[in-house]
Amino acid sequence: MKPIFDVAIIGAGVTGAAIARRLSSFKLSVALFERRTDVSFGVSKANSGIIHAGFHHNPSTLKARLEVQGNSLFDRLKAELGFPFRRVGILVVAFSPEELKTVEALYEIGSANRVPQLEIVGRERILSLEPKLNGDAVGGLWAPTGGIVEPYRLVFALVENAQANGVSLFTDWSLAAARRADDRWLLVSETGETHEARRVVNAAGLYADEVSGFFDAEEFHIIPRKGEEFLLDKNAAGFPSHVIFPVPARNSKGVLVIPTVEGTMMVGPTAVEIEEKDDTGTTTENLDRVFSLAARMVPGISKRDIITSFAGLRPTLPGDDFFIDLSRKAPGLVQVAGIQSPGLTAAPAIAEYVKELLQKDGLELTEKPDFVPTVGHSSKVVEMNFAELDELARRERAFAHIVCRCESVSEAEVVEAIHKGHITLDGIKFYTRAGMGRCQGGFCTYRLLSIIARETGMPVDQITKRGKGSTLVVGRIGDAGRDMEDGSNTLGRAGFAPSGRKRSGSGD
Ligand SMILES: Cc1cc2nc3c(=O)[nH]c(=O)nc-3n(C[C@H](O)[C@H](O)[C@H](O)COP(=O)(O)OP(=O)(O)OC[C@H]3O[C@@H](n4cnc5c(N)ncnc54)[C@H](O)[C@@H]3O)c2cc1C
Repeated sequence: MKPIFDVAIIGAGVTGAAIARRLSSFKLSVALFERRTDVSFGVSKANSGIIHAGFHHNPSTLKARLEVQGNSLFDRLKAELGFPFRRVGILVVAFSPEELKTVEALYEIGSANRVPQLEIVGRERILSLEPKLNGDAVGGLWAPTGGIVEPYRLVFALVENAQANGVSLFTDWSLAAARRADDRWLLVSETGETHEARRVVNAAGLYADEVSGFFDAEEFHIIPRKGEEFLLDKNAAGFPSHVIFPVPARNSKGVLVIPTVEGTMMVGPTAVEIEEKDDTGTTTENLDRVFSLAARMVPGISKRDIITSFAGLRPTLPGDDFFIDLSRKAPGLVQVAGIQSPGLTAAPAIAEYVKELLQKDGLELTEKPDFVPTVGHSSKVVEMNFAELDELARRERAFAHIVCRCESVSEAEVVEAIHKGHITLDGIKFYTRAGMGRCQGGFCTYRLLSIIARETGMPVDQITKRGKGSTLVVGRIGDAGRDMEDGSNTLGRAGFAPSGRKRSGSGD
């Protein structure tokens, strides 16, 4: 007999993952359903990775409250889950007395939101804080609590920890219908598979409106707001060490210059409302626009250093606030919709808020005495010195075998990712960083395919970039698992042909 879940969460982005992990600390049976082949393949993989300080949004909004609270929870989360996160601080730069007035307004908002250590700074101080800034800056806002995070690694860690504490994860499981039966919901997938749950959390990102419809719950329309971002290679000169914001635009925080936790640099995002929920293409026109705005703040950045581009779609609602509440129409349903920026920052606080709503709805919460808040640390070649690597490789040879040269990722790390369930090329890339460097997978894609085939037993022509409809190889090929050992390249002979969408439009 299948279990009846106390709570089913629809959507394994950062929101659903944070909720699942929070609920896993109580004596509950919890399931996390995700339509894609891996977690974090929605909006949560294609964003700026900033943990915002909390000075952009009006104190009357729910998102302002959850943003500041979410930010404050990140140190503990990082200590428990070990994902890459650094409080590098945020600077908003003003270039005129008018822009300084906006900076003052941001300071007022931030103070009302109780953002700690917020400071208005003059020209001299801002240039000493960040010497890479354009010398024409006249002052700005300094928010040392702002930070940067590797967003998918955050989601992976949350899900891994939730699973270790008993949460059941179903990937490639797309909710297509829901029916009320007694005190519970019968959830039906696209393929007709069913599960039952007493309560359901709708954390479906861009598709939260569709999911709400399955429950005959609130009617709303998610409007995708597209953001194009451009990634610059590591080691490029002229990079600032803080996140640099301009004074904000009407419907976005503007084009930013963002150091990443891995040492690369991002510029973007744009903010344009669109119709299609899968339109993640980028354009040269926007690249030019983004670069000229970014270079005004940080003149040292150069288009020559771009290694890739991607776009993410913010799931927005009219009114621009989060909609997180118990449904007034569907019993036992919690709506978590309109989670646009700062959703990444707010996620840990959203999880607390949803936990309280579920409790208000009558869900009994008894803490688990055996809840384990931490995940084990995995060894990474990139973090080791030669002596450490030598020692480790003596014990496990696969650490000496570098699969991705740009990011120094070993075969042992790739195998670990596969054994943890990341069996698409993108899943491994986001988990290990193999394929994220300067050559963008030119060197390691074949090797990764070979290792996936060897470890899973999957034929290479069934391995995908990111799940259904994205196979990478056409034609017959040799024994890929053996290729890895003897160094031959049968994939090259068989014809290596990417299928599906083009890289620049992939949102990765
Ligand atoms: C360009 C850009 C930049 C951003 N920058 C920042 C930033 O710097 N800082 C910040 O705090 N926020 C930022 N954000 C916002 C942040 O990325 C989002 O708020 C956050 O990722 C939303 O997470 P989510 O889990 O709600 O949605 P998602 O990550 O989209 O997760 C929802 C999941 O639900 C799944 N799903 C949908 N329908 C179904 C179904 N029927 N059945 C099963 N599963 C389903 C989807 O496949 C998806 O995986 C940015 C967003 C964009 C687009």
